[in-house]
Amino acid sequence: MIPVSQALDELFNLVSPLHIEHVALRDANNRVLAQTQYATRTQPPFAASSMDGYAVKGAEVEDDCMFKVIGESAAGHGWDGTVGAGQAVRIFTGAPVPKGADFVVIQEDVKVRGNLITLCRDIGQKDNIRPAGVDFLEGNPMTAPHKLQPADIALLASMNIAQVPVYRRPIVALISTGDELVMPGQTPEPDQIIASNTFGLAAMLENLGAHPRILPIARDNEASLRTAFDLAKGADLVITIGGASVGDHDLVAPVAAELGMKQSFYKVAMRPGKPLMAGKLGDMAMVGLPGNPVSAMVCGTIFIAPMIRAMLGLGRSASPQRSVALSAPIGANGPREHYMRGFADANGVHSADQQDSSLLSVLSQSNVLIVRPPNDPTRDIGECVNVMDI
Ligand code: AMP
Ligand code: MG
Repeated sequence: MIPVSQALDELFNLVSPLHIEHVALRDANNRVLAQTQYATRTQPPFAASSMDGYAVKGAEVEDDCMFKVIGESAAGHGWDGTVGAGQAVRIFTGAPVPKGADFVVIQEDVKVRGNLITLCRDIGQKDNIRPAGVDFLEGNPMTAPHKLQPADIALLASMNIAQVPVYRRPIVALISTGDELVMPGQTPEPDQIIASNTFGLAAMLENLGAHPRILPIARDNEASLRTAFDLAKGADLVITIGGASVGDHDLVAPVAAELGMKQSFYKVAMRPGKPLMAGKLGDMAMVGLPGNPVSAMVCGTIFIAPMIRAMLGLGRSASPQRSVALSAPIGANGPREHYMRGFADANGVHSADQQDSSLLSVLSQSNVLIVRPPNDPTRDIGECVNVMDI
């Protein structure tokens, strides 16, 4: 048995960043930017008004003074002339501030009569102008690698970058194993249950930016497993679920070995998820997850998510943890690292009453895993523990 950190290192050794492809900006959300991009223009490209009002010379702004309105500058329709002494140009938000003007008096601070305006009192210092380039300058970078979020997409659009280099999505084949499993929507026999892990993991993989492929369920015989591995060919990572212990029906290790899997490790000192195996099967990385639904999902968070991030060029790092105070005490931990299902809110974090690794209902009501180091003693209310968001 190896510790979680060592298992993670071994898993990182099985993968590397994938190739770069170019996608349209519209398809770039949630993808990982692979090469630093540089703004192709300056934004705003001109000094722009941030309000509706009148553009004048700031030095002329005084209580009750009058200006003659000689033109109009609207968004997309600038005014070409030069503002002279005693003159004003009607201006709207986003419009270029005309030459000669360096101040916008907001329309609420003005009395209008014909083409004359009179300023009110106490206009203040705020010029209501966004200088050219205040957002970004031509050549300013968006640094790679970076997982693109909606605000980044908007910024790239604003930089006039329409095609984006991103890392290819890792293709992940998911194989459920077990004679007891049927797909959701099917009618199980009395001694059967529904394959759930594959669907949970596929959802997790999608959120991570991978491309999951759910393969047909492999039955508990060697031929069926071999067929499933065959169908997985072409994936970057193949994940099996279940059949990884040492029971008579646990065939993943022997069949994978027969197919030439070079094993990196088997068994990790953690709860849940001890019977984890990993290795290389041809060009594919292979991870064998335990079958219990919560174990599989926890291992997804602890191991699969960092592997996917590594394949997406985001480097080798464990899933992030943060420190939260306990809102209820928790008992001492045993010799294995324990990832307890828990719920964190403004009052702190508490662990779920039931920690059995088959309870998806408990996992579904949890929003964190509480990370307990080996032999961690009893912890009281107010003490801080590390958690991972799930
Ligand atoms: P195994 O590791 O195959 O012995 O499976 C351990 C437990 O997890 C058993 O109770 C299985 O029925 C269950 N299990 C295995 N695979 C799945 C799956 N894909 N979805 C739901 N439960 C599963
Ligand atoms: Mg099984």
